Amino acid sequence: MMASKKGKDKSHLPSFITAKDRAKQYPSVLHESGGKLFCTPCNKVLDHRRKATINYHLQGHKHQKAAENSNRRRQIMMTKVETKSTVAAAERNKICEDWVRMCTALNIPLSKTDYPLVRQFLLDKVVNGGSIPKSHQLQEKHLGDLYLKGKAELKRKVSGKPVAVIFETPDVEGRCVLHILVAPLEKDDSKNFSISC
Ligand SMILES: [Zn+2]
Repeated sequence: MMASKKGKDKSHLPSFITAKDRAKQYPSVLHESGGKLFCTPCNKVLDHRRKATINYHLQGHKHQKAAENSNRRRQIMMTKVETKSTVAAAERNKICEDWVRMCTALNIPLSKTDYPLVRQFLLDKVVNGGSIPKSHQLQEKHLGDLYLKGKAELKRKVSGKPVAVIFETPDVEGRCVLHILVAPLEKDDSKNFSISC
């Protein structure tokens, strides 16, 4: 009688379905390894032939708890990756801005960035130097941003303060340029700000 019952049960099992096929029905919850079906959060082997057993396991308290913990770990990991990526992007942006700031302060044309020797120096000796793009990208992407930041900073420094403004049109060689000198009229403040156009 028992042998006959077991035989009857076996006949109900869909033997044609593999663990891999079953795992595909539950993506990111179940996976196949070595021909066996695993519940990923619980790391437990399940009978891949019985869908009802699998569903019963997935609705169980232990599985729900394990899935919650697994999601939490995944979320923390993703946040860490995103933070790392944001920090890296901010560092790349900073080296570009610092480079443009240095070049413009010293009247070094940004095109010098493209010289092979300069490029090699940046790559070999400067942290994140390889992130500095070619000069046309520096002009398009970073020079404008830096100009706006500098302008805002200048406004902030002289805002609400009495200032002396001196305009000059020719430079020392008689070339036609516009030079504006702005000096805050404050006691013990000897700093001058200049804008060259
Ligand atoms: Zn589970």
